[in-house]
Amino acid sequence: MTIVSTRPSLIDRWREHLPFEPDDPVVSLSEGATPLVFAPVISELVGTEVYFKTEGANPTGSFKDRGMTCAVSAAVRDGAKAVICASTGNTAASAAAYAARAGITCAVIVPEGKIAMGKLAQTLIHGARVVSLQGSFDEGLELVRTLVAEHPISLVNSLNEYRIEGQKTAAFELLEDLSGDLDLLCIPVGNAGNITSYWRGFREMGASPRLFGFQAAGAAPLVLGHPVEHPDTVASAIRIGKPVRGEDALTAAAESGGTIRTVSDSEILDAYKLMAAKEGMFAEPASASSVAGLLKYGADGARRVVCVLTGRGLKDPEVALSVTRDAVIPCPVEIGAMEEAVLGPPREPATAASQ
Ligand SMILES: *Cc1c(COP(=O)(O)O)cnc(C)c1O
Repeated sequence: MTIVSTRPSLIDRWREHLPFEPDDPVVSLSEGATPLVFAPVISELVGTEVYFKTEGANPTGSFKDRGMTCAVSAAVRDGAKAVICASTGNTAASAAAYAARAGITCAVIVPEGKIAMGKLAQTLIHGARVVSLQGSFDEGLELVRTLVAEHPISLVNSLNEYRIEGQKTAAFELLEDLSGDLDLLCIPVGNAGNITSYWRGFREMGASPRLFGFQAAGAAPLVLGHPVEHPDTVASAIRIGKPVRGEDALTAAAESGGTIRTVSDSEILDAYKLMAAKEGMFAEPASASSVAGLLKYGADGARRVVCVLTGRGLKDPEVALSVTRDAVIPCPVEIGAMEEAVLGPPREPATAASQ
């Protein structure tokens, strides 16, 4: 029997632009080729044409899969029997899935009590060894770097060049979908690998849209100009105080004529709720920082804008429930009660106004 995949792997799709030879093994879950979705409400609010790049549509629900298919394929090619990462959650979920697919061992170091529930569930069910570090993400990464220097384990954090290479394919897709016509990209910035990847991808295709990066105000080392000892934000995926790709990110933003600025947690949550309630788009809080930043600072004359929605909203159900807590209507088994429950006064919708 021939097994036909309806979608080529990301590596097969873009191999001539990636560091893989035709015979190299490919570990794929059919990542990439994510939908670009027009955002009518945000467009209206900002007064320009705005699209969402829905990276939550990747196999494990975040853009990390683009880099992970490359990092794990390279690890397998190079004979690694295990991969490891420090992670705020999505890198762990992605590494665990691709390692499972490859049949190799995966260990992840997560900051204790700081990982979103959906991400932890994914990482565990894929069979990774989950180590809960009594410290921050940044401290975890430092220890992991020491560990891999002494053991034959492949590090798949965004220090890994294959991660950056894989993630740049999102820029290729944008240029393809928009026929090269893009003025501005709005993107969340945590460890700063993704903004670095997009810029590399755009440059390789001869494009140079401006890049607006956004950090959470409580975790904004690139805006402050120094590491943040205790990064704090509701957007756990960008709760990083010492970005490993910080220099690259600042260079990318500057070269593009853009900037990296901050958004507050309440601005992030307002955007998060607005996108869900008015655009039907449920992205995780970190992802909403791209939209929050665009709403806060404006498009600065850009005609066509893409906001990168880096991860799916289901990753972090706790935040969604925390901002909608009173919205479930109890009902006894009785038609009058149901009538009232269904037709009664409108519930406060989960919009920016109700925060
Ligand atoms: C990893 C991640 C980010 C941050 O990307 P960096 O490459 O670390 O800057 C943003 N949003 C989500 C959902 C992520 O998983």
